[in-house]
Amino acid sequence: MSLIRSVLLAASQNHWLREQAPHYKFVRRNVSRFMPGENAQDAFAAVQQLAAQNIGAVLTALGENVTDRKEAAAETDHYCQVLREITSRNLNAEISVKLTHLGLDLDNSLCYANLETLIAQSPPGKTVWIDMEQSAYVDRTLAMYTRARRAKANVGVCIQAYLRRTESDLRSLLPLGGAIRLVKGAYNEPAEVAFPKKSEVDENYFQLAKMLLGQDARFEGIRAAIATHDRTLIQRITNFANANQFPKEKLEFQMLYGIQRAEQQRLAQEGYRSIVLIAYGTHWFPWYMRRLAERPANVLFLLRNLFAS
Ligand SMILES: Cc1cc2nc3c(=O)[nH]c(=O)nc-3n(C[C@H](O)[C@H](O)[C@H](O)COP(=O)(O)OP(=O)(O)OC[C@H]3O[C@@H](n4cnc5c(N)ncnc54)[C@H](O)[C@@H]3O)c2cc1C
Repeated sequence: MSLIRSVLLAASQNHWLREQAPHYKFVRRNVSRFMPGENAQDAFAAVQQLAAQNIGAVLTALGENVTDRKEAAAETDHYCQVLREITSRNLNAEISVKLTHLGLDLDNSLCYANLETLIAQSPPGKTVWIDMEQSAYVDRTLAMYTRARRAKANVGVCIQAYLRRTESDLRSLLPLGGAIRLVKGAYNEPAEVAFPKKSEVDENYFQLAKMLLGQDARFEGIRAAIATHDRTLIQRITNFANANQFPKEKLEFQMLYGIQRAEQQRLAQEGYRSIVLIAYGTHWFPWYMRRLAERPANVLFLLRNLFAS
């Protein structure tokens, strides 16, 4: 793991930086590359622009690790409003939530009740996605997903290819059906739990993708979402899917707003399911630092904005 990545991921947890960064115009300007705006209406406008290109959307309100019940309730209410708007405007969008945003650090039952509320509000046929956070949350996140799936909820969960445990987790998740989003993983994790080398993460990603698109997963009715901007992996996975008669229109790729736009459009035009995750909100600092860490060249863009301001 590169030093820059580690430094940026450590900075993402720094409270002083979190308070200060939003005051700087050049930082805000840079954040706007990855985010259509700070409120839900900005995100809805982006959903409509993407829909015109046959690209679906997943909305996420930025925030994590809430520290009181009222805050968790307010975030749940916010998502309920978003779901009502998705229904009333018939938007091609779903939501994705972080369980620590719904109160996981406070109380498991409170968090699950909030999740259930969102599932109940979600329009029929649409998935409520659960993000995966740091490795310390994986057991509890998978336990909540499992409980929701056993209650037949339309719910999906994210799994991270950088974690050594994920292959075994995936084997346990497959019989539950549901929806699974495969990502590489965005946090700073020790080598005991996560593969330190990018080449190992990429190879594990490919092996997990094969499991997600394989016979067992298809038999269980899994909705697999291949969430990566890595064009080499996208090509390998597309080749595997073609060779195994996986229907093109069911092969789903998810990317982040503002990253690899041309690839998002290409996939949609070629008949794959192309979906963009749109994050919005004022609590963007840790999320933005993770985006910088994913591609150190983004830091250069940030510095360019500093000198342009
Ligand atoms: C839909 C979606 C949902 C996600 N949900 C989660 C989650 O719940 N939990 C979690 O841990 N992680 C999540 N992630 C983030 C993920 O773990 C990775 O950190 C992120 O996707 C970058 O990895 P990559 O697969 O694109 O591959 P990489 O090897 O990192 O990137 C491949 C190429 O994509 C481009 N690229 C990638 N990231 C950026 C960037 N920030 N800016 C500019 N270009 C970039 C670059 O050209 C890079 O060479 C999510 C990602 C997506 C797309």
